[in-house]
Amino acid sequence: MDHFDYRDGVLHAEDVSLETIAAEVGTPAYVYSTATLRRHYRVLAEAIGAHPDALRDPLIAFAVKANGNLAVLATLARLGAGADTVSEGEIRRALAAGTPADRIVFSGVGKADSELAFAVGAGVRQINVESRPELERLIAVARDLGRGVDVAIRVNPKVGAGGHAKITTGGATDKFGVAPEEALALYAEAAASGAVTPVGLACHIGSQITDLAPLRAAFGVLRDMTLTLRTRGLEVTRLDLGGGLGVPYAGGAPTASPADYAAMAAEVLRGLEVQATFEPGRLLAANAGVLLTRVVHVNVRPDGRRFLVLDAGMNDLMRPALYDAFHDLKPVHLTSAAPIAHDVVGPVCETGDTFARDRPLPPVEAGALMAFTGAGAYGASMANEYNSRLLAPEVLTDGARWSVVRQRPTYDQMLARDQIPDWLQ
Ligand SMILES: *Cc1c(COP(=O)(O)O)cnc(C)c1O
Repeated sequence: MDHFDYRDGVLHAEDVSLETIAAEVGTPAYVYSTATLRRHYRVLAEAIGAHPDALRDPLIAFAVKANGNLAVLATLARLGAGADTVSEGEIRRALAAGTPADRIVFSGVGKADSELAFAVGAGVRQINVESRPELERLIAVARDLGRGVDVAIRVNPKVGAGGHAKITTGGATDKFGVAPEEALALYAEAAASGAVTPVGLACHIGSQITDLAPLRAAFGVLRDMTLTLRTRGLEVTRLDLGGGLGVPYAGGAPTASPADYAAMAAEVLRGLEVQATFEPGRLLAANAGVLLTRVVHVNVRPDGRRFLVLDAGMNDLMRPALYDAFHDLKPVHLTSAAPIAHDVVGPVCETGDTFARDRPLPPVEAGALMAFTGAGAYGASMANEYNSRLLAPEVLTDGARWSVVRQRPTYDQMLARDQIPDWLQ
């Protein structure tokens, strides 16, 4: 459920008209809803909290890569969320937004030594180690710094899942994590090092998962491994279950609800007496944001094909180009006109800059405002300046209040980042 609704025929973010935001901030622009972020967090927290016997003292660590805006992170941090991070930049974002270091998890397949050192120095909660070479480098870094750190070994449970091959991470051939047998060996090596402290296991098998079966299978692998490690005299106090729960991009109820998900996790973990970490990204943020855009023009070809050309492009919202993802597109001004098929495209010079083919939409005119829904996760965070297009600004609403939480850069700022060497001056 979200807080983007029509009021008197105009789409609003909470109590703020998207027309007002477009008039003051321009388009394209991302608009986020505080009430929706809060609601999604609470629904998940309550679902997990319903199983205190099995999911004790849980941590919900928001996956910063889904939406790294400091205002979004601060909103979630105030609710008690931690952060799942995959780079030094993301750790810095989480800290800057007020996330306590002991709620920050550092994941990722290619953490540089400098990033590992930064994380150890910052006192993060745990580093999820994804390979043998990484463990060796982390041990060396921790020895150098004379400071320990808790680690979890990320297991690749050989259960892939997700809405698209490019967002499946738990398959045997995916680059993430280590096979269960090797993870057991790494765990023992970490314990023997004396430099780092293995506290648990982690997994994250993919994203936009709408079926609980693969998640259950992956959690079961962690459970079995926990028991095995304990029979070998090793302590396991935390299990990091990753993120990945899917959201209904086309509206309607979720196919796997947070309540069912939490009940399933509780069922698998019951009796293990471990602290569970959850790393939702999309689940919290996707439907808490829209990408507001204006129609540049409608180009009707002689053969009747209608191209709806928007001022937002694949550089602003990559998911359709990258993952063939579906985003609903709503007119900001409600109309009762009968929908007709449109090809919805952006201005970028790539055929891939196509948001939808043959999408039934009410006919609109140049200048009309529209909004892609479900754009709060992997939207702005993936945006780039391809075609030298300025990054879209971001706006956060909270009831009747709203604020620009990232300014649109100016062209001068964009150009000022480059330098012409003296021999060309
Ligand atoms: C991307 C990622 C997540 C979040 O995934 P969602 O599908 O957005 O929930 C969580 N954990 C790790 C390790 C990730 O890489």
